[in-house]
Amino acid sequence: MMSDVVARTVMERCDILARYSEDTDCLTRRFATVPMRQVNDVVAAWMLAAGMTVHRDHIGNIIGRYEAQEADARTMLFGSHLDTVCAAGKYDGILGVLVPLACVERLHEQGRRLPFAIEILGFADEEGVRYHTAYLGSQAVAGTFDSAALQFTDDDGISMAEAIRLFGGQPDPVLLQTARWQRDGLLGYCEVHIEQGPVLEAQDLPVGVVSSISGQHRYMLHFSGQAGHAGTVPMNMRHDALCAASEYILSVESLARKTAGLVATVGKLQVLPGASNVIPGHVSASLDVRHQDDMVLARACADLREQALKVGLERGIAVDWQLVQQDKTIFCAPHLSSFVARAIEAEGLPVYTLASGAGHDAVVLSDLTDVAMLFVRCKGGISHHADESVRTEDVAVSIRVVERFLDHLCSMGG
Ligand SMILES: [Zn+2]
Repeated sequence: MMSDVVARTVMERCDILARYSEDTDCLTRRFATVPMRQVNDVVAAWMLAAGMTVHRDHIGNIIGRYEAQEADARTMLFGSHLDTVCAAGKYDGILGVLVPLACVERLHEQGRRLPFAIEILGFADEEGVRYHTAYLGSQAVAGTFDSAALQFTDDDGISMAEAIRLFGGQPDPVLLQTARWQRDGLLGYCEVHIEQGPVLEAQDLPVGVVSSISGQHRYMLHFSGQAGHAGTVPMNMRHDALCAASEYILSVESLARKTAGLVATVGKLQVLPGASNVIPGHVSASLDVRHQDDMVLARACADLREQALKVGLERGIAVDWQLVQQDKTIFCAPHLSSFVARAIEAEGLPVYTLASGAGHDAVVLSDLTDVAMLFVRCKGGISHHADESVRTEDVAVSIRVVERFLDHLCSMGG
């Protein structure tokens, strides 16, 4: 089938883009770095060859536009991010640019224009590795970029403003907002992304429709007890901050296990003073809590806070609870999702709908326009790792689904 050939090209392009890395032995491509510029140049060349006009905005997004039949038509946005985490896989984000690009290439080959324009956005930053602020690229497009971030510095002391300048943009709050789209001109935003979880593989399905992107709360907890000599302080006189944190972490797991759909993770611990012969006096712990129902999420977080204070009280440990980040659940637009679902059905596949537990650019774009997402199965649910893997056949399905999605949009008159 034609789409198999096209899918092989997409896979080869993923391999090509994976060569542009800050590290020689693994794939790392952070915001506004030299490899990011190289990837932008390569993608821009592919976009131009597909009959698109291409420009780069000030934050560093690469944007290709395929014009409509009529000049004043509305625009359907596609896209995802071209930056990666450290030691990343080849498909996270990248597929969301290359799959719709493959569809535009086929339109161009057929000399076909649609009743609406298509724009493909390759976002400059979603992972937030360099400045610990995710979604810089999509925020510029959605008009929610906070220019206070321009003062942030990376590990080498380079400010974001300087990084943008070196990358060829102007770090001017007004110019950065020129990337902003106006709601009226848009039909919506559709993002193709690897699932990053094991559900589609367990269902034996190549693709799935995303219903919502789960809300998430992130906290930092500080347990402050009393450091002391590991040999001289009797067990019944200790205020061991790590023992308190450990008891608490197991209670987090227990609450998440008995609450349907809730996931809660303590992924980072700092133990002080951190010596084998000293009772831990202080522990900092991260807490990440997610659920697709904001009410359930809020209740769970309130319970988890109460539990932390209770453990502290019982053990004579002071507990400080700080909110770091709070994102609401966003819902994909039913009409766009139904076009995705019908496209999957037309492929002779069952329509499987799932919530995304991971955040995506679609979260930010949902402030601007209606959004839809198509998930592609990935091997073992593994992502953010060199073992990240997708099948060529599944990519072929995703290409055909996006083509049919475009046909449905056409039949709705754009
Ligand atoms: Zn991603």
